[in-house]
Amino acid sequence: MKCIIKKVYYCDFCKKKGLRKDAIENHENHCTVNPNRDCGLCNNNIGVYRYPGEVATFKDERFIGVTAASYLLILSDIRLKTNNCPACILASIRELRARLDKTGVWFYIGQPEFDYAKESQKWLSEVYNENAQQGLIDGF
Ligand SMILES: [Zn+2]
Ligand SMILES: [Zn+2]
Repeated sequence: MKCIIKKVYYCDFCKKKGLRKDAIENHENHCTVNPNRDCGLCNNNIGVYRYPGEVATFKDERFIGVTAASYLLILSDIRLKTNNCPACILASIRELRARLDKTGVWFYIGQPEFDYAKESQKWLSEVYNENAQQGLIDGF
C-alpha cells in the first residue's frame, strides 16, 4: 500500500477544487462567481453584469419568489448586456441570485429559458470556432 499526501487547491469563490494549482488559478480568473472575472468564453469586458432594475416578487405560504414575468425580463436584459455569452449570463444570474438571497427572495435559474450546458455547447461550436478562425480569441 502506498499513502501519498497531496495539496488540494480550492477556488476562493465556488466549491471547485483540484490538485493542480495552475488549473485552479486559471479557473478562479474565469469563475462565474468571481465578481471581477475575465470571461474565458467571449473575452468581453463585462464579466459580470449587475442587473440594476426592479425585481417583481410574489409571496405564498412557503417563500418569496421572483415572478416568472420578471425573470424573463431580467434574463432578456442580461442577454442583451452580455451579448448572449452563456458564461457571462450565468455569472450575472448568480450575482443577482446571491444579492436576492440576502433579502430572503428565492430566484430560480429557470429552464428551459436558460440552459447553460446547452447554450455554451452551441456558443462554442458556432461563435467560438468562427472567432478563433478569425484570430479574435486567443484560447481560454
Ligand atoms: Zn470557482
Ligand atoms: Zn462571456
